[in-house]
Amino acid sequence: MDEIQAKATERLKTERIIGHLSGKEMGPTLVFFGGIHGNEPSGVEALEEVFRQLKSGEEHIKGSVFGIKGNLPALVEKKRFLDHDLNRIWTHSGIDEIEQRSEPERSVEEKELSEIHQLISDIFATHAPPYYFIDFHTTSSPTLPFITINDALINREFARLFPVPIILGIEEYLEGPLLNYINEKGYVSLGFESGQHFTEEAVTNTISFIWLAMIYCGVLTKEQVPDYKNYHEELKLAAKGNNIFYEIIHRHRITSSDNFEMLPGFRSFEKLQKGITMANHNGEQITAYKDTIVFMPLYQAQGEEGFFLIRKIPGWVLSFSAFLRRIKFDSFLALLPGVSWSNGTRDKLMVNLKVAMFFSKPFFHLLGYRNRMVDETHLILNNRERAAKNEMYKDSFWYKK
Ligand SMILES: [Zn+2]
Repeated sequence: MDEIQAKATERLKTERIIGHLSGKEMGPTLVFFGGIHGNEPSGVEALEEVFRQLKSGEEHIKGSVFGIKGNLPALVEKKRFLDHDLNRIWTHSGIDEIEQRSEPERSVEEKELSEIHQLISDIFATHAPPYYFIDFHTTSSPTLPFITINDALINREFARLFPVPIILGIEEYLEGPLLNYINEKGYVSLGFESGQHFTEEAVTNTISFIWLAMIYCGVLTKEQVPDYKNYHEELKLAAKGNNIFYEIIHRHRITSSDNFEMLPGFRSFEKLQKGITMANHNGEQITAYKDTIVFMPLYQAQGEEGFFLIRKIPGWVLSFSAFLRRIKFDSFLALLPGVSWSNGTRDKLMVNLKVAMFFSKPFFHLLGYRNRMVDETHLILNNRERAAKNEMYKDSFWYKK
């Protein structure tokens, strides 16, 4: 029995890599993840399909491409996760803690994290920059395909090449997603939510996204992908021409012991009128507190977010914030009372809210800071802009100086 089990584990391990190709010519390293959530296999299926085509073709790629499977045991069981959400445990302290424990002491997802973490470290050690990371997901409700990013300019510029809506600021609400961990290292990283779980559309949207991503980061040229225009057109059509930037303004938080039920029929990006009943939460009716747009309503048992609300970011705000960041307008912030750098590298600000009452959240957002409450009076603000390794991408065609 043990031997069979060991063999099964071994097989699962070897299946971690969906595909890996390296060209003779130097170039970027592009890493795709699929199935970090086990009930979201569309990314895995799409990657398998594209790697099949890449291997049978004669294309000479520049640099390297990886397709990596996320939560292997949860993918087998078609569940979001088995012990903990693999996309909520990538904090530095969490990773250290997991690495310190011996293998038998680790939970299912901790073992998965440990393997993927090792794999990422190996890729950094053996493959050349610039690095691009893309994580594929799907949602429990119907949705337009969309991108989520941490708000650094390199992420914005790369993300806006794809004809889909882009959501900023989800990082303020989620603790420990895989991409957060990579983004803190300063690399371009995008989450792509391709549609509803287990739908064919979610797979085809992901396939289009993979080909476009390979072209945009320079692994392949447009000439090498004859269907390039079709992929772009298909994705644009699936997103109904929406390529607006949005930001999250509210999260409806739930816990696993709560009784939460979203009323049927809500779709991501749907406009809601103030007062409309959206959900039942522990016997209480939840209504929209203003005219708004719903995002990722939850129609599955597992998950910590009942729904989000979002709003459009005006174009002038995007340009103005890009300007402020390029001139490093935030340099003077730490001179103000109640504000200090919380580490030596100047990518984290500590704000004492009792003293620094003169700032509002949108002000910090403009400058690239996203906040996280540490206690009732202190905020830690992470600056994605200061952490971003802009130098690494400066020769890319999409990079704005
Ligand atoms: Zn997911």
